[in-house]
Amino acid sequence: MLVPSNARPRYEHLLDLQPRLLRDSEESKHNRMMLRGARGIITSGIARNYVDEVLAGHDEDSRLHIGRYPLPVGLIRAFVDHCDEILIIEEGYPFIERHLCGLLGIPGKSIRGKLTGDLPRTGELTPDWVARALGRPYVGAQLPLSDLAGRPPQLCRGCPHADSFKAMVEAATGLGDAYMFSDIGCYALGVAPPFRAVHTCVDMGASISMAHGAAQTGAHPVLCTIGDSTFAHSGMTALLGAAYANANMTVIILDNSTVGMTGAQDTLLSGEQLLAAVRGLGVDPEHVFAIEPFPRNHEANVELIRREINHRGLSVIVPQRPCIHTKRKGVGRAATLTCGVSCRGTAVNT
Ligand code: SF4
Repeated sequence: MLVPSNARPRYEHLLDLQPRLLRDSEESKHNRMMLRGARGIITSGIARNYVDEVLAGHDEDSRLHIGRYPLPVGLIRAFVDHCDEILIIEEGYPFIERHLCGLLGIPGKSIRGKLTGDLPRTGELTPDWVARALGRPYVGAQLPLSDLAGRPPQLCRGCPHADSFKAMVEAATGLGDAYMFSDIGCYALGVAPPFRAVHTCVDMGASISMAHGAAQTGAHPVLCTIGDSTFAHSGMTALLGAAYANANMTVIILDNSTVGMTGAQDTLLSGEQLLAAVRGLGVDPEHVFAIEPFPRNHEANVELIRREINHRGLSVIVPQRPCIHTKRKGVGRAATLTCGVSCRGTAVNT
């Protein structure tokens, strides 16, 4: 248990371990060095495969592949001593290159990589980029993609979130510059036209806490959208805080009865259980509503959402309608959605 009296000696222990970890790394079979010509190539991860593919058996370069950390300083020093010119090829951030060059580089050695612009800092590392950096001919797979129209991801046709977003955006129209926060799930695609109902999205559960922060500054209207499974995963603590403060905001929990984005797994909270959890967290039951986001209910839903936006305090509105894939497969907890919604399909206060 890392109480301070344990944490201090454990950190000393961690520091004491470093020389042994470094020794293990120097001797590891995952850090492989071959000294040949004066040009050296240092790789990590998939970059080794790309270099193998591009060089296609031309083995005149020296090679060092780093597959185990901490960085094997002894191996790297021997490699740098042997080579005049070094190309560092790694995915993502130029981690090895930055460590090797430090602030001032190594006098007398040409070290190239992402920091020198020989490889791109952004985008995917590909064999084509590696070939260019190595000055080798390489013809990758030629796919006729350039003629295809761009197809940005969007909500499925018939997705219940579309009707929720339409109602929400229309309800907020004319009430000033609305702040709309959202969360991790299919509904993050509400950022795209025609909805433009997501202004920011950070991490699981942050929609409610960001909205709460905005409401505390006096911003209005403040709305946030979060799915049922994300709410159960990490939105509940934020709602507890917002309920305690009776924050002036409208939380819309999109209950599609499943974890839609990752393939329709069961959700932890849906239907009446979700509504009970919302009330249990301290939200005033007078301002907890379940609605059915169908086109036939659009006007009524807009009216309800607008009324709750204008309520000076916290409201929670739960549009209940299963993801179309859950419905098709007959999986998930769609049956629970009938709870809390009137048989005429109009919104009911829960
Ligand atoms: S998977 Fe379901 S929730 Fe996700 S966009 Fe498609 S219909 Fe909507």
